[in-house]
Amino acid sequence: QTKHINPAIQEEDHDEPSIRPGYLTEFVGQESVKDALLVAIESARKRNRPLDHILFSGPPGLGKTTLANIIAKEMQSGIETTSGPVLDRPGDLAALLTPLKEKDILFIDEIHRLSPVIEEILYPAMEDYSIDLLIGEGPSARTIQLPLERYTLVGATTRLGLLGSPFRDRFGIILRLDLYDPVDLKVIIIRSASILNIPITEEGASEIACRSRGTPRIANRLLKRVYDYAIVRGTGCIDKNIADTALIALGVDSKGLDILDRRILEVIARDFGGGPVGLKTISISVGEEPRTIEDVYEPYLIQMGFIKRSPQGRIITEAGKGHLGSIFQGPLSS
Ligand code: ADP
Repeated sequence: QTKHINPAIQEEDHDEPSIRPGYLTEFVGQESVKDALLVAIESARKRNRPLDHILFSGPPGLGKTTLANIIAKEMQSGIETTSGPVLDRPGDLAALLTPLKEKDILFIDEIHRLSPVIEEILYPAMEDYSIDLLIGEGPSARTIQLPLERYTLVGATTRLGLLGSPFRDRFGIILRLDLYDPVDLKVIIIRSASILNIPITEEGASEIACRSRGTPRIANRLLKRVYDYAIVRGTGCIDKNIADTALIALGVDSKGLDILDRRILEVIARDFGGGPVGLKTISISVGEEPRTIEDVYEPYLIQMGFIKRSPQGRIITEAGKGHLGSIFQGPLSS
């Protein structure tokens, strides 16, 4: 079992629902997204109208699901949650849509992974608030039209590019979440620590913040793991020293890269002379799905300036080589 930290893995969110922000004012960072939502929600409330359909995009763990739930709370409406890959039968979609009341939210995570059949049914369901369902088979088959209340569809995707433009155009509000800066992550960590009764110093929080790959889900996860370490090996309080020691033990280096991030850099630098290397080749070399590499690992490596994308493939930058060199003592020969 490698110790890399995949923000797409969500199991830890469920034991601590209390640290998930419940209202827009508790949601840290992403100011322009929050502002757009605030205006849309206020306007809908004032006119007593349902919200337009909303699409969130951005890497996993940045708060898309959290925002969908916040919207429901702020609108004082109900929410149903599903995800693209599990929604494969038209009847399942109909069963989710038909009970929705006006202003209720249907949240579809990983909406880029909906089957084309389901997407087709969603179009009129988004535009005209009705669905056409095929009942029966063969010559006796017929279509029935079911009317829907004016609900709001909230979609989340890690890959806006995989959504066809006819689909995208049916969302009135499209908002992109970016990786968080360490200042915002520090606020999130201090907030979570206070809810979970974890003693932490400012410097301790900063240290974890700088090494959380710009991702709140990872920041919260590392906070808990570092706390374990502080209890067993330290005084029970997270300070800079304990955070640093614990993070190294967890395989998280000084720039927040985990084992798989470093493997990706190594493969490009050492096995392929710095690149360009294709995504598939990297995927085979490091033993991780191309999709995970693209959605989870690359955004941070690109943000840190360690790799670049080119039409021919991925290239390691001087900064990337420098970082690898600093870890393995001694410059790389490339
Ligand atoms: P996504 O749906 O984008 O994968 P989530 O909404 O599940 O991400 O967020 C992951 C976790 O990170 C949540 O449990 C929540 O506690 C925390 N989180 C995300 N964004 C924020 C934020 N802006 N402020 C505080 N906590 C956040």
